[in-house]
Amino acid sequence: MTSQLYADVILPLALQATYTYSVPFEMEKMIQPGVRVVVSFGQRRLYSALVYRVHTEKPQVQQVKDILQVIDTTPIVLPSQYKLWEWLAEYYMCSLGEVMKAALPSGLKMESDTYISSGEFDEIDLSDEEMTLIHLLGQKRKLTIQQLTQKSGLKHPMSVIKSMLERKLLFITEDIESDYRAKTENYIALAPEYSDEKKLCELIDSLKRAPAQQRLILAIASQATTPNDLSTARVLRKTLLEKVDVSASVLKSLIDKGYIVQDEVETSRIDNANSDPATCNPLALEDFQINALNEIQNQFSSHDVVLLHGVTSSGKTELYIHLINQALQNGKQVLYLLPEIALTTQIINRLHKVFGNRVGVYHSKFSDSQRVEVYLKMLSEEPFDVILGVRSSIFLPFSNLGLVIVDEEHENTFKQYNPAPRYHARDTAIVLAKQVGAKVLLGTATPAVETYFNAKSGKFGLVKMLERFSGLELPRTIVVDTRDARKRKRMKSHFSDTLLSAIENALSQKEQVILFQNRRGYAPFIECADCGWVPHCEHCDVTLTYHKYTNQLTCHYCGFGMEQMGSCLACGSTNLQPKGFGTEKVEDELSVFFPDAVIERIDLDSTRSRSSYERIISGFEQGKIDILVGTQMVSKGLDFDRVSLVGILNADNMLNFPDFRAFERSFQLITQVSGRAGRKGKQGLVIIQTAQPDHPVIKSVTGNNFFTFWEWQLAERNRFHYPPFYRLVRITLKHKDKHHLEDTAENLAKTLRHSLGENVLGPEPPIISRVQGLYILEILVKIKREQPLQRIKEFIRYSITMLKQKRETSTVVIAIDVDPY
Ligand code: ADP
Ligand code: ZN
Ligand code: ZN
Repeated sequence: MTSQLYADVILPLALQATYTYSVPFEMEKMIQPGVRVVVSFGQRRLYSALVYRVHTEKPQVQQVKDILQVIDTTPIVLPSQYKLWEWLAEYYMCSLGEVMKAALPSGLKMESDTYISSGEFDEIDLSDEEMTLIHLLGQKRKLTIQQLTQKSGLKHPMSVIKSMLERKLLFITEDIESDYRAKTENYIALAPEYSDEKKLCELIDSLKRAPAQQRLILAIASQATTPNDLSTARVLRKTLLEKVDVSASVLKSLIDKGYIVQDEVETSRIDNANSDPATCNPLALEDFQINALNEIQNQFSSHDVVLLHGVTSSGKTELYIHLINQALQNGKQVLYLLPEIALTTQIINRLHKVFGNRVGVYHSKFSDSQRVEVYLKMLSEEPFDVILGVRSSIFLPFSNLGLVIVDEEHENTFKQYNPAPRYHARDTAIVLAKQVGAKVLLGTATPAVETYFNAKSGKFGLVKMLERFSGLELPRTIVVDTRDARKRKRMKSHFSDTLLSAIENALSQKEQVILFQNRRGYAPFIECADCGWVPHCEHCDVTLTYHKYTNQLTCHYCGFGMEQMGSCLACGSTNLQPKGFGTEKVEDELSVFFPDAVIERIDLDSTRSRSSYERIISGFEQGKIDILVGTQMVSKGLDFDRVSLVGILNADNMLNFPDFRAFERSFQLITQVSGRAGRKGKQGLVIIQTAQPDHPVIKSVTGNNFFTFWEWQLAERNRFHYPPFYRLVRITLKHKDKHHLEDTAENLAKTLRHSLGENVLGPEPPIISRVQGLYILEILVKIKREQPLQRIKEFIRYSITMLKQKRETSTVVIAIDVDPY
């Protein structure tokens, strides 16, 4: 007699442990690690869970529940992925369930509260069971898996649902409330018959007496992305109406006549549209680039990780392409990680040209079904050889990974803040590569302090590329002392005379300008000039940001918003004045100074949908925009030809931010934004406005002296016990009752201090001490490099578990962040 089999499964919950279920005899052959199963947990709730381990050790508990059903025939999670998950859960102090939630696209998790809706179907093709589900959905349109399984009364609902999902008879519907981004957009194209040039000419001729219609047709035709192929002509409806300046009724009449067609397109589909084979070889490298490439390969023979410190425009991306090419020739897969915002069509197109449909893109703005598609393709016989993606792409099932490239490795968006796992994708990628025997290349113009430390101390290889492509010079920098300029009356609002005349000069030469202001909205707050009253968020400890275009006051922390009230709520005065300034105000004032210039703004507000971001970027690229105003979105990975001037309106709000990384972040941002100036052909100019012209950060940026900056910062980090000399673990506690929170936090700090002594700091309120109605306190634990990290983490975890078990403190929300950013 064979002994009873058990399976430990991971549930999609924040449970510390895996749970053990017994495997019914008839399922024994199907059960293996990585397949999904259906189990009941808690009050008769059904979950799809992942089999983690199969064994014969009888659990200690009284009653072991049976696995109800096996969903997959082959694993959807590979052993190598589990290995990474284990590391993540341990290092970042979270559960495997939490890691699973981050690692799998929703469509694969099939959580019981995932919504399902029906797609198109032909009744003839459906079985009785399938019809039952379709009918259930027909009445309510949208049900959770849980509801569907209960109401259907089917014996094996999950396998029916799964097969229907695969055949696109059912769809996973994402939670609409939390997803405010536009999912689809309307595109206008020529009707197919007018893709023929002769036909089009005839049409245009025939519209002689309707100039507006004619202009519209011409505007569409001019958008052909492939010359001579009018079928590629397609333009956003919104953009078309704006730019051609015709009314929607003109557009409608053309649609009605059948000359043009309107198409609703899922915004993110656009990027994956390119599935053509490769058309170009990598570019030939210049000598200094060849040297760097050779040096990188050299270093790989003795190091697993190499840092490529290459100034902006040195051609790092070209080197990556050459390295990818080599890896592919060796039959290996490549993961190319980029920070969210740098993942633009520019880079996607560049890779598609060289590697064609061997490249898959994994983007968080893709719909879930697209992410599922990429994930499943990676499991298939013919996976993508190259994945270009944001941080979550480290979770894809690679079968043969040989190289990981982390571009802009210093970017803090590689770190996930919320929810757990609060992982850093760069650091995780290094672990992943080590586990599977792959190499890692970190690339940046401004290495993180920790990364450069690792390179200098020999842990990582280091390759420098300090020349720019084709002998381009680094930009010239002018620092404008705003205090002094104001005294001499050389400031017009937020613009110094120096900056204004430089903008004018650039515009007169038909060159482009980028202006950087690290704050969105019109003004960070408004104030009553008579009594000093300032509107605050009802739920958070912050002022409400004034947005002039929408005439709203909004909270950037919880989204709370209200109409600008027009008069002071304290004294009734109508003298409300905006204080400070954001990108909207910069844009507003610029249009007064330069009424003829085309100005666009790029920040979180103007780029809610992915396509509006692309529209602005490509408009700028094509020279249709003269001045681009933006937040750090303008600093990332963009490569423009005609930018001769970059202006930084106010360096001070970055420098004065109270955080140990503020100077590092300022240095990186200013250097990166500056790097956009003067690419191709001509030295650029950077103007930095600041009230602290002698600040060491400003000095090292203008002197282009990364090394001095780094040495100074390293010394500070050493002196004040910060990374890389100490590791940080930040514990955040939240509760709606301030006193209760204080007591709990004090309690925890005391416990921790008892063992860890003075390296436990706090509890202290963060800069924003209340968000969404919850008060916040933080405890920071500093752990010296030599100290036993593992043991200390266990102790922290234990202390928190004890706290959570006490009834009076169990309602306090506690989050742990290892290596916080
Ligand atoms: P970085 O990533 O270091 O900022 P890029 O790789 O984006 O630099 O290169 C900057 C510009 O120089 C790009 O337009 C790129 O196409 C061009 N470039 C770089 N190296 C070469 C090369 N060897 N041949 C032709 N163009 C190059
Ligand atoms: Zn007032
Ligand atoms: Zn708020």
